[in-house]
Formats: sequence, structure tokens, C-alpha cells
Amino acid sequence: MNQENLQCAKCGSNQLSANKKGFSGTKAVGGAILTGGIGLLAGTHGSNKILITCLSCGHQFKPGQDKQGKQTKLRNDRENAKKMAATMKKPLFWVIIVCLLIVTGIVFGGDKAEAEADNSTDPSVNIENIASMTMDKVAIVLGDEDSIEIVSPNGLPCPCKKAYYQNGKYEILYINDVADWITVNKDWSNIEIPDETKFKYVKSFDDYLYIKVNSY
Ligand SMILES: [Zn+2]
Repeated sequence: MNQENLQCAKCGSNQLSANKKGFSGTKAVGGAILTGGIGLLAGTHGSNKILITCLSCGHQFKPGQDKQGKQTKLRNDRENAKKMAATMKKPLFWVIIVCLLIVTGIVFGGDKAEAEADNSTDPSVNIENIASMTMDKVAIVLGDEDSIEIVSPNGLPCPCKKAYYQNGKYEILYINDVADWITVNKDWSNIEIPDETKFKYVKSFDDYLYIKVNSY
């Protein structure tokens, strides 16, 4: 940058004066022009204490905010915007974005997988240790029931006890006081059924496993 292309951003005049902030502008004017130090001063970015005064219109500005400086900044901004727009059109840009998303997914997915792994550490339950067993024996396998309700489904030798275990994971209807209709909610990957033919009905639905032990 030299003194010649340093112009007032308002009127374009190159009749400028540089002085330190805090001093009265007009009085300090002379010297800087004559010594030709403005261009040099204007190039000294970060010299916030320098203030340039236009002698034609009185506009005051900091180094870098002269006409050319402003145009340069505008041009740079436009070029950066163009570069960004061009970058977004490149497949590589999107490949990187997708990779970032995948990596993020792996990190969070990892947590999820761990949580699921924790779930599957439910002790395995052989259904034969529950089926046709009394409440006392079932409690040995599943722990104490959370709650019991009395139900009377049509066509069954009821009223019967329906018991819930492990926060609702297991629902068991006791018919003739033994476990008969067994529902396993949520994840039933820990359930072992060595021989399905021993049971009247075994079927897994979207979110539960249902077992009828006897022919009710
Ligand atoms: Zn001016």
C-alpha cells in the first residue's frame, strides 16, 4: 500500500492527514501529509490509535478503512462467499459432512450398543423353570412379584392371580395356581425355550413373547 492509492472512503480525496487519537485533528494535520507517512501508517493494521482525517470533507477513519481498504474487504467477503458456495457444490464437501455424521453416529451408537449389551446381561431364564410352577417357585427364578391382580377371563377356571415381575418385563397368569400364560415384554433374548413342543403355544410378537403352557 502506498500513499497514492489511499483515498477517503467518502469523497475519494487523497488529501489526508494522519494523527493520533485524542489530539485535535486540524492542528496536527500538516506534518503527516508532507512527510508522506500516511500510507505507511494506514498499512499499520492494529494501530488503533491512528486516526486519518480527510482534508476535503472532514471524514475520519482508521487505517484499513480508506476507500481501497473497504473495497478490498468487500471483495474478500464476496470471494469467501463464492468459495464457500463452490465448496458446497463439491461432492467431497458432502462426503466429509456425511463422514462426520457417521462418526458422530458411531460414538453415540456405541453408547446405545453398550446400553443394549447391558440389557442382555439379564440372567438367562429357562422357560421350563417357570412353566407350570407355583408362585413360590417362580419367585425363585424371577424374584418377588411387583404386583398381583385377580382376573377372570372367560372360559377359564378363574378368578386367577396375574402377577407382574421385574418392572413389568414378565406377566404371568396363574391358572389352577400354576404359571400358565406367560408374557415376556421388551427384550426376551435371555429366554431359553429348549423344546417348544412342550407348550401349547409359543409366539413372539413385535414387542412381546407369549407362551401358553396348557390348553386353555
Ligand atoms: Zn473525504
